[in-house]
Amino acid sequence: MSGIAERLAEVRERIAAACARAGRPPGSVTLVAVSKLKPAALIREAYAAGQRDFGENYAQELRDKATELADLKELRWHAIGPLQTNKVKYVAKAAHAYHALERLEVAEELSRRRLEAPLPCHVEVNVGGEASKSGLAPEQVESFLKTVRALPGLRIDGLMSLPPPTDDEQVARGYFRALRELAERHGLPGLSMGTTHDYELAIEEGATLVRVGTAIFGERA
Ligand SMILES: *Cc1c(COP(=O)(O)O)cnc(C)c1O
Repeated sequence: MSGIAERLAEVRERIAAACARAGRPPGSVTLVAVSKLKPAALIREAYAAGQRDFGENYAQELRDKATELADLKELRWHAIGPLQTNKVKYVAKAAHAYHALERLEVAEELSRRRLEAPLPCHVEVNVGGEASKSGLAPEQVESFLKTVRALPGLRIDGLMSLPPPTDDEQVARGYFRALRELAERHGLPGLSMGTTHDYELAIEEGATLVRVGTAIFGERA
């Protein structure tokens, strides 16, 4: 078994165990393998080991990899990074889902380009309240949702967050719970939260989708 296949198997086992602890069915969590800055060959290796959902941060890298890996017919690309309006076209063309919706101009441009096949989206929320982070403040979510839910080329599935890393389990759970409560309040079933550092906690707190890079592909340069 290759390195990637082994690591994927371990992550999948941990996901199943976290689901069991939370009394959730193992199929209730989608694993997105975050492959940003990693070569296409490693994505092929993960695909050969059964992985189908991959996450990329940078629109041009997503475009290039989607072209290079077009023969992997079941591969689903998740765009997970902030977008400039002039790069929206790459995501609109290649992505199965977008996880970092937070700007109205981007939402409108994505919608215009996806009228035929509405793009599933998660709205990004800055639950940690960090000034440097992307994402809406929790109190901005309601009015933003009202606007983007009216756009015909988007389907708003849930909320996403990348909380500040912490080794304090209770603090981490607090961020995830805050996102879950916000999603519940707005009738959104999707929760994209949890990375290598904290995906098991995120699952225990309700994540429906975890974004795991380093644990699968190793450290990034
Ligand atoms: C890079 C990234 C991840 C994956 O982080 P790891 O620590 O490598 O698991 C998840 N989500 C977002 C938004 C990222 O940018």
